[in-house]
Amino acid sequence: MCRHAAWLGAPRALATLIQEPEHGLLAQSYAPRRQRHGTVNADGFGMGWYDPARAEPVRYRRAIPMWADANLPALAQVALSGCLLGAVRCATVGMPVEESATAPFTDGPWMLSHNGRVERDAVRALADSAESACDSAWLAAAVFQRLRAEPDLGEALTEVVAHAGEKDPGARLNLLACDGASIAATVWGDTLFVHRHQDGVVVASEPLDDLPGWQAVPDRSLLLASSEGVRVQPM
Ligand code: GLN
Repeated sequence: MCRHAAWLGAPRALATLIQEPEHGLLAQSYAPRRQRHGTVNADGFGMGWYDPARAEPVRYRRAIPMWADANLPALAQVALSGCLLGAVRCATVGMPVEESATAPFTDGPWMLSHNGRVERDAVRALADSAESACDSAWLAAAVFQRLRAEPDLGEALTEVVAHAGEKDPGARLNLLACDGASIAATVWGDTLFVHRHQDGVVVASEPLDDLPGWQAVPDRSLLLASSEGVRVQPM
């Protein structure tokens, strides 16, 4: 399983998800604490944020371990936004290790990351094509295709997870998606935590630090975060 994390709230730097917290994504790339599948997340990493100069998010992703990119810490310190997403990858056996297989996947205003695995045949019917043969790229393509028809993040994640989960009962489908103003995340076979702050919310595969306030989100649920607050509902 890979690890992912997102922020929604007052503008912050990506460094607050990556290298500033003791157990942020950088530490999780080599020493995750709650990972159920795989031991390190060294097959790539990515991050995305929204800047007023662009309608679409800015994305930076690479197919090398996060700790191996010496340029990353400074970039993460100045990548500021009210909506952030980061991910580190542990490729599933048989999946390609390449930039195009690395989250966040993007399309228009949307970004998406996946923790887990799924039979590609369980999602191929939902998308015309994907940028990589990686199962996560197919899941992302399916979600984006659905979003282009009806731009509702929660609905799109729910539909794709329900379809894929039915076709592949062994699938693990923790998805994390955002559009610049809201976050949606599914819990389907892996861990997810939420930490509400005065000025926003962090949603992450596992806690980024040992400070109080982290709450586990139950399996088979959908989390929705927007300026109206955070909601968790069963799937
Ligand atoms: N199956 C996806 C991949 O290969 C995600 C892997 C994961 O969650 N570890 O990239």
